[in-house]
Amino acid sequence: VWSRICGPLEAAIGRDAFTAWIAPLRFRSAENGVAQFGVPTTFFGNWVERNYRDIIVGLMTSEGVPVDRLSFDIIGNARPAPVPAALSNGYGAPAPQPQPTPVQRHAPALSRAPEQAAPPPAAAAAPEPELPGSPLDPRYNFDNFVVGKPNELAHAAARRVAEGGPVSFNPLFLYGGVGLGKTHLMHAIALEYQRQFPGKKVLYLSAEHFMYKFVQSLRFKDTLSFKQIFRSVDVLMVDDVQFISGKGSTQEEFFHTFNALVEQRKQVVISADRAPGEIDGLEDRIRSRLQWGLVVDVHPTDYELRLGILQSKAETHFAAQPDVQLASGVIEFLAHRISSNVRILEGALTRLFAFAGLVGRRIDLDMVQECLADTLRASDRKVTIDEIIRKVAEHYNLKINDLLSARRARSVARPRQIAMFLAKSLTSKSLPEIGRRFGGRDHTTVIHALRKIEELRQTDSGLAEDIELLRRMLEA
Ligand code: ADP
Ligand code: MG
Repeated sequence: VWSRICGPLEAAIGRDAFTAWIAPLRFRSAENGVAQFGVPTTFFGNWVERNYRDIIVGLMTSEGVPVDRLSFDIIGNARPAPVPAALSNGYGAPAPQPQPTPVQRHAPALSRAPEQAAPPPAAAAAPEPELPGSPLDPRYNFDNFVVGKPNELAHAAARRVAEGGPVSFNPLFLYGGVGLGKTHLMHAIALEYQRQFPGKKVLYLSAEHFMYKFVQSLRFKDTLSFKQIFRSVDVLMVDDVQFISGKGSTQEEFFHTFNALVEQRKQVVISADRAPGEIDGLEDRIRSRLQWGLVVDVHPTDYELRLGILQSKAETHFAAQPDVQLASGVIEFLAHRISSNVRILEGALTRLFAFAGLVGRRIDLDMVQECLADTLRASDRKVTIDEIIRKVAEHYNLKINDLLSARRARSVARPRQIAMFLAKSLTSKSLPEIGRRFGGRDHTTVIHALRKIEELRQTDSGLAEDIELLRRMLEA
């Protein structure tokens, strides 16, 4: 089964990603719903799990080998490294759909609202084409979204789109760092639009889900109905579009879908973690197309916005736990100390309320210190060169000594250059200092490394992805 799905998998995610992440997998078995693979490192397994699980699960299932999760063991290491079981994702495994007849072509039967995750249809029933959306979270609505300076433009633009009316900017492109409310705003648009125009079709999905659907259509030689479905919606929203960068034919199909909708003056809303111009591995024509409409930056939160968000979330908690007492100054302290990522802020408050509920104590600054020590420590933490060296060595399965040695073999030299590049971009250390820390090298060696990596990042999307991932892990 593995050899049969490798072709469509490669077509969907692109040669580079396939070579980097799929080819090294050692397929072992698929039994009792679990597909087992050997991987070089735990990290490698986690990455595959995070980025390619759905697609692998879907393809294997559609090949008649039903699996619902992946499991990894480290090659050359007897101890298996289990990865958390996949959550049910509602993708299911639809049976092959019939080729549409010409009659269907102009009137696809769209029966399912996008917020309903599609259950897998029974193998025998001929499934109707349906809107393949990701589920919407009803709490991610406009009422629960706190507006401040950093997100006011994004919010206003989202409101405008949700009101319907003539399409005034297309696409709306929202971008910003993790946990700043992009997904929340996208859901809010979809929910509000549906509420106002129940007859219209709003399709919200992650770029990953888009890819998954596309690969399935390739698999079942059913791209025609894929195209029909995606081109028949009134509003298309694709979240985290950076995911499809470097992913061959998925990117291509996204571009065509996008163009077809914009031509029909249907609204398209896109989100990404970076500005269109900064998404590596995206074709130039797609990049420029994405900039045609309104590009809005969701900025990191400032103190006032964090305060507002905390107050609003605290109210929600109070509704459920009216007995909890909150000392004054706690909200201010959290807003001051916790980073700009709203998800972490929310998590902190949730923990405090849970703790207070359990021990029956008032939430005060002592409890904050006790309960959130790790979060607070993480929030004032700076990345160090030592950490970079350690992480890069671990990531490439090298010894730290090798990384710092004089060895010039590519397998060591390239990771070394990547580590220097990360040291330059994530710390404030000077070039001579970086050289010194990397086994006493000259600063010109560091400059050479930075140039080399800059250059490779443009041409090698696998390497660019790797660097991005390391950066995130180091900054997390
Ligand atoms: P992103 O998609 O940008 O990574 P999310 O939309 O997933 O971020 O937001 C992370 C969490 O923070 C969500 O639970 C969301 O509800 C919350 N959040 C972010 N911004 C706001 C805001 N302005 N008001 C209320 N909640 C917010
Ligand atoms: Mg998001």
